[in-house]
Amino acid sequence: MEYINNNELLAAFNNQTDHSIAVYNPHDDSIVGYIPSLSIEDINHKIERSKVAQQEWQNTTASHRATILNKWFELVTEHSDELAQIMTLEQGKPLTEAKGEVVYGASFIKWFAEEAKRTYGDTIPAPAAGKRLMTTKQPIGVTASITPWNFPIAMITRKVAPALAAGCSCIVKPANQTPLSAYAIAELAYQAGLPKDLLFVINNHSSVLVGDLLCHHEDIKKLSFTGSTEVGRALLKQTADTIKRTSMELGGNAPFVVFDDADIPAAVQGAIASKFRNAGQTCVCANRFYVQDAIYDEFVDQFVSAVSQLNVGYGLEVDTHVGPLIDSKAKDSILALISTTLQQGAKLQYGGDKLSGNYLQPTVLTDVSSNMDIVQTEIFGPVAPVIRFEDESDLIKQCNDTIYGLASYFYTKDIQRAFRVADTLEFGMVGINEGIISTEVAPFGGIKQSGFGREGAKQGIEEYLNTKYICFGNL
Ligand code: NAP
Repeated sequence: MEYINNNELLAAFNNQTDHSIAVYNPHDDSIVGYIPSLSIEDINHKIERSKVAQQEWQNTTASHRATILNKWFELVTEHSDELAQIMTLEQGKPLTEAKGEVVYGASFIKWFAEEAKRTYGDTIPAPAAGKRLMTTKQPIGVTASITPWNFPIAMITRKVAPALAAGCSCIVKPANQTPLSAYAIAELAYQAGLPKDLLFVINNHSSVLVGDLLCHHEDIKKLSFTGSTEVGRALLKQTADTIKRTSMELGGNAPFVVFDDADIPAAVQGAIASKFRNAGQTCVCANRFYVQDAIYDEFVDQFVSAVSQLNVGYGLEVDTHVGPLIDSKAKDSILALISTTLQQGAKLQYGGDKLSGNYLQPTVLTDVSSNMDIVQTEIFGPVAPVIRFEDESDLIKQCNDTIYGLASYFYTKDIQRAFRVADTLEFGMVGINEGIISTEVAPFGGIKQSGFGREGAKQGIEEYLNTKYICFGNL
């Protein structure tokens, strides 16, 4: 394969069978590798094995689990170049970004290796004499994760690392478009000493069938889903039958606000990073830009100048800033959205060219108003609609006027405004004078129809633990 030599992890995906699923390179739609499509019987069998393995795993010490997780972290770090190549091949993001994701993904393994030892319970002052009240934390059991194609490693380690640290076992269903990274990191976990039955990666040609099975299975005690709000809603309904614990990391519609007192070059830099990373295919991407009247023209000039310097190309080539979109369906729907926005009165300030294959030129649309469809749509592509605003309180209403509540960003030098606006934005995460906010040490997650539950930070492991209350009487 062009550009790739000596990638042993990749070599494992040459095995084409009657039941395999082909994985394609978004750069040219060539085949990168194959993974097995498991039958429902196979998946049921893996869940049974997972249940048995979890019962042993929950009785190991936290330090034993941490040792294995730390070893896994070391192996992922050691193989980061190979993992990044696999990710670029199947997902399209530039190699430097893929390496960044491997480092970010690995950081959750290290973090939760440490957190494994800190799943404290409480002792509670008793309401009567002769009693002692306490709580302990226990692992939930067998967990299932369903993950998207835009972050093929980090969306998995953010779930699997806390689950394993807590003493749970994991069944992971990665996106059918980017499963190779998932199989590759699971292989490194086994090499680190993780018993194979504690982590199964599963795919089937029909993700609907797999979702149905995981949601209804009595032995699966928790479903953690990252993906679109639409699919999350369907899965939540299915989990109701077995009253499963769930975490939902869903879609976003992040506002990116530039107030007239902002440091404009810093805002431009943050806007580029937030909007065009991963070709605009992240849930926390700036989705709509609000720029205050007095600095609107200056910001747009500087922003367009920075956008014009982004190189679009194959992720494995050096100097590529923006790779292809995941597939032609994604490209077609974004082109249709651009066309609708122009028909509704916006101006094409930069880009819009189709380019060949799955590539799309970074695009800036100005004169956008809040009643246009694009403002309420998760774009998931390299398109930046820019809206002019005058008044702060009206701006806040516009920012909050969405079903989503994941990330939000604003730039200002006014400290009072910074606190006031941060308090009133209805989003799970707020970046102030900062376009990239994700880190393993902070709680990631949304409110409203962006979901619930938190990943990373001290909160992340709680998603995989039950609190048990114990009352001693007659002491
Ligand atoms: P998606 O279409 O919802 O798919 C996500 C995962 O669910 C994939 O593994 C997919 O399998 C599977 N799936 C689809 N329909 C299913 C069903 N009926 N039953 C069971 N599984 C099903 O989302 P996507 O297009 O991959 O990812 C983009 C979305 O993810 C965006 O909305 C983005 O905002 C969101 N996202 C959110 C976060 C967050 O942390 N909040 C992070 C990243 C992405 P297939 O591969 O077969 O489609």
